[in-house]
Amino acid sequence: MNYNKKTISDVELAGKKVLVRCDFNVPMNSDGTIESDRRIVETLDTIRYLKEQGAAVILCSHLGRPKGKVDPKYSLAPVAERLSELLGVKVIFASDVTGADAAAKARALLPGQIMLLENLRFDPREEKNDPGFAKELASMADVYVSDAFGTVHRAHASTEGVAHFLPAVCGFLIEKELRNMVAVIDKPDRPFVLILGGAKISDKLPVIRNLIDKVDVILTGGGMGYTMIHALGGKTGASLCEKEMLDEAHDIFFECLERGIKIMLPIDVCAADHFGPDAEYIVTYADRIPDDREGLDIGPKTRLMYAREIASAGTVVWNGPMGVAEFEAFSGGTRAVAQAAADSSAKTIVGGGDSAAMVQSLGFADRMTHISTGGGASLEFFAGKELPGIECLLDK
Ligand code: AMP
Repeated sequence: MNYNKKTISDVELAGKKVLVRCDFNVPMNSDGTIESDRRIVETLDTIRYLKEQGAAVILCSHLGRPKGKVDPKYSLAPVAERLSELLGVKVIFASDVTGADAAAKARALLPGQIMLLENLRFDPREEKNDPGFAKELASMADVYVSDAFGTVHRAHASTEGVAHFLPAVCGFLIEKELRNMVAVIDKPDRPFVLILGGAKISDKLPVIRNLIDKVDVILTGGGMGYTMIHALGGKTGASLCEKEMLDEAHDIFFECLERGIKIMLPIDVCAADHFGPDAEYIVTYADRIPDDREGLDIGPKTRLMYAREIASAGTVVWNGPMGVAEFEAFSGGTRAVAQAAADSSAKTIVGGGDSAAMVQSLGFADRMTHISTGGGASLEFFAGKELPGIECLLDK
């Protein structure tokens, strides 16, 4: 796949109407206020640049899962308000997506003005990548800008379909994502350490497959680690295990060894008496977990062993927590990996989702080379899958 795509710096924008797909899928509090505006803040450079260039800026995004129906709980109105505060200018809000209000407001929009459409997923045609809906979106603008990295692995009307009707380029956020991630896989500083955790091994094995010619060390943790240990004949008790993946997990482990890759499994675990934040646990060997216990975090020896590998790495790519990090008692392994990555002088790429949340909550964000804004998208990137929302953009 060609990742060398045209950006907003490569096209004429003055006097143009520009439709920008953003990721304003922000976490909301139950009272309808925004819990974290990080995703909004991350788009500001692109929006400000478009405004300075004299474009009329039409922003669009999804929020939550309204399943194709209008649901006020998922309205983007609070995002328009927050954007207005952050930009210091009024952001005009359309009460529909491509209906009469949006069309009229888009038509009247002047250069330098900014508007936001209502939640794209209020229309069932968005997720179906309906060409009619894509055309309606496109009819409001002259240029399409993709800046929602979190959705580029999905072919939806606003992420892929619309690019068939307008010249399509990426914004600064996607440009940064691609630059950082392409750099590590094209020319990794060695040793290249890949850290994989999280729940499902089925999500992560494609990443090992795709990077098998490139990585030097693989550190495994989280639920996927137990599937691997089980596949090698270990006793993993009631730990998470994807039975249908056992053969593949077994084979890839030995293929890594054959190729000289240092693939490491947890040696000790926090084996809990049940799955819950209040669970009691013992620390034991990772391949001798009692039948009635489940591994919810990597143990202290594994943390040290992994931290040593990270300390001497040239490149670190990390996706997925080392345990059930949302439970304080089982967040220690993920914290230890975050700390080691923050302390290391390696290029560190954190691939979105829970690992990114942990890095942020520990205040280590500035000490990483790059934290991806798209958990699923970065995983698919590292798995070498085609990203329809990138593929559809104009090549440089
Ligand atoms: P993923 O989206 O695949 O990166 O997985 C993240 C999820 O994996 C988190 O919600 C964790 O709670 C879960 N997880 C990590 N380690 C374990 C484990 N040992 N057992 C069960 N779930 C886990």
